[in-house]
Amino acid sequence: MSDTFRAALPGALRTHLSEPSSPALPDAPGAADLRARAAELDAADELAAFRERFTLPEGVVYLDGNSLGALSVGVRDRLAHVASHEWGELLIRSWDESGWWTAPERIGDKIAPLIGAAAGQVVVGDSTSVNLFKALVAAARLAAPGRTRLLVDAATFPTDGYIAQSAARMTGLTVTPVDPAQAAQAMDEDTAVVLLNHVDYRTGRLHDLAGLTAAARAAGAITVWDLCHSAGALPVGVDAHAVDFAVGCTYKYLNGGPGSPAYLYIAERHQAGFDSPLPGWTGHADPFGMTPAYEAAPGATRGRVGTPDILSMLALESALDVWDGVSIEAVRDKSLALTDFFLECVAAYVPQGKVESVTPAEHELRGSQITLRTENAREIMRELISRGVIGDFRPPDVLRFGFTPLYVGFADAERAARTLGHIFG
Ligand SMILES: *Cc1c(COP(=O)(O)O)cnc(C)c1O
Repeated sequence: MSDTFRAALPGALRTHLSEPSSPALPDAPGAADLRARAAELDAADELAAFRERFTLPEGVVYLDGNSLGALSVGVRDRLAHVASHEWGELLIRSWDESGWWTAPERIGDKIAPLIGAAAGQVVVGDSTSVNLFKALVAAARLAAPGRTRLLVDAATFPTDGYIAQSAARMTGLTVTPVDPAQAAQAMDEDTAVVLLNHVDYRTGRLHDLAGLTAAARAAGAITVWDLCHSAGALPVGVDAHAVDFAVGCTYKYLNGGPGSPAYLYIAERHQAGFDSPLPGWTGHADPFGMTPAYEAAPGATRGRVGTPDILSMLALESALDVWDGVSIEAVRDKSLALTDFFLECVAAYVPQGKVESVTPAEHELRGSQITLRTENAREIMRELISRGVIGDFRPPDVLRFGFTPLYVGFADAERAARTLGHIFG
């Protein structure tokens, strides 16, 4: 830490940060009680055993699974096998014999239950950004003629906004930013497409997917949902709520690995009309016919573009094994209990007024993360990380803590809050 920065800190913080290796400060009142509660909650946690299915460094509290999920134990061996056998020995034959060619649909069907989709509607490949582009342009091409507006979540993750602008320009629509909490009122007979983030990546606020999708349908508009911060963290119900299109990444709560391919959900009723702006050969009805004219494959396959990135895809497939038999409702229950407990510990350990939660207290408005606003957030996060508590910082002033119920426990939540309390002295 620079001296300039240290000089700018409040007294107590300055003293503490100047001695990073000082012995632990005395515990705040109530710490023994909170620690005992954490131990009880962990002992009663039906998902606790899943932690062994992940490789996590000793002594680290990992609260950044909303940016990069942890490594599942089976992935390393699977990748080694793919490299040595499937690629190293079978070579080109693996496209058939090892199931490489059909991996995008096969893995899509593995993700489908996690977002409440029946089989045959999810295809894996490309990044979330690229899938957004496909979904938005296809949605605009399906929209009722004469409608001119594309409503976009005003607080969206930036890539969605950039892609939406370009998709709108290509299809003759105009982007209108909307506060998702008010989006239903903004939908009218001029609305072609609505793009919303299910969970706000900064604040962790959860939006009403069922209600907003119903409002869009009532207005005659088509919905595209970005599920990056909800798939693997809470029930989504894309089929039950009649979502039209959805996209999401797999390297956050689905633990697919850095840059693992994203997914695209195309509701069955829209598949025949899905006119991709990126009609690559692997989405062709007869890819090896090598014909000059494009004819889209049936089903979600038409969402494919080029040759799939097999190594990342198979790492993802292995990572998804952890979900076999897991109830997403149980994951949601634990996520809410963890975030409630973390907030309680923060209130007990962090001096009044130092941090403010910008994540809604109401369960129905909360994703699987807690975001705290504070002064000097960048430096506070750096200090937390140096003490073994990994979250992340987002400009200008927030600390994000993601709670991944399959490998984060209550003692982790307690330790993270206690460490934060120590930093504030
Ligand atoms: C993480 C995230 C993305 C990332 O998009 P990539 O194309 O994978 O880089 C997009 N949208 C949201 C809401 C995200 O949280």
